[in-house]
Amino acid sequence: MLKVDLSFGSNFAYQNAFVEMHDRSHALSLTLKDGKNTCTSDEFPVGVFHAFEGKRLLAQLKFQYDYDEKQNIVTVCGTDFESSDAMCLKTVPEGTSEYCNQRTSSGGFAADDLMHNPHWNYRTPLMPGLEDVLKKMARAANESLIAALKKVPGLTVKVRTHPPEIAPEDYNKLLTVYRDKKFHGLYEPGTEYGPTDDLFTIESVWGGTVQFNFQEKFANVIGSTNDPKIAGLTWIQLWAKQYGFYPTVCTSYQFNGFPCGNSLVGGHVVTGTVATKVPAGSNSVYIFPICVQHNNDDKVYMEALKYLNGIWLKNYMGT
Ligand SMILES: [Zn+2]
Repeated sequence: MLKVDLSFGSNFAYQNAFVEMHDRSHALSLTLKDGKNTCTSDEFPVGVFHAFEGKRLLAQLKFQYDYDEKQNIVTVCGTDFESSDAMCLKTVPEGTSEYCNQRTSSGGFAADDLMHNPHWNYRTPLMPGLEDVLKKMARAANESLIAALKKVPGLTVKVRTHPPEIAPEDYNKLLTVYRDKKFHGLYEPGTEYGPTDDLFTIESVWGGTVQFNFQEKFANVIGSTNDPKIAGLTWIQLWAKQYGFYPTVCTSYQFNGFPCGNSLVGGHVVTGTVATKVPAGSNSVYIFPICVQHNNDDKVYMEALKYLNGIWLKNYMGT
């Protein structure tokens, strides 16, 4: 079990003749259990619904997560991730079942989320701008959740996101190849592939982002870069695109006296101390900026010293 405390708000005040939202921050304590689960918070008061017998307006957070207690890895949705698993802010006038569901990202499905309640439906002209306020609250709650998880000592945090936009000319450099259902390597233009080779697009392997712990041990994925100069460069650009800056130093710079070079690639790595061929279906391959020397040395392991944030690849291949 994992306990996290969230705190979000305020700046969510809203007031008109029908409804009033408090301008106060909210503190919630959540418990995450082992496995893939839905977390539902306690209800907390967010305002008053004057137009409906002055009932208190209650809210509740609901989201899906995956917590691997043994490996101490948690996976949650990013704030811009459009999924029914993502953070949802449910609001309800106290003592009724008139729920409205507010998503962090897209509008969701109006028919499912607002349920055509006779009283509580904030997407009408009676409450202009309120949906925006509630969306901001849902987003703040999710950001607070991610921040709280990232502060838990020893916990690895995966955040599901959409991949950054990729130029068409770079697209095929990000394909991954599976041979006989086993990870074979990165796609190399000009190489002939056979009938037992499957190519996977970046969308099919992109899981999102990952935050390692400081000094987390990691090692190479064997066979991931036959030509690091070509393939690795594309992957480091993807990392740079995700984080908004180009890395300048090896993530595991001079760890254990290793002679790091200045040329960096986006290395495919796994946690632990042993370089490995990743089995099909693995959900735990990551991209970190590492030097060419580290990338070419499967005998040493590395530690996350200079960067803690990487790209998380999921390979549902074969599962
Ligand atoms: Zn290095």
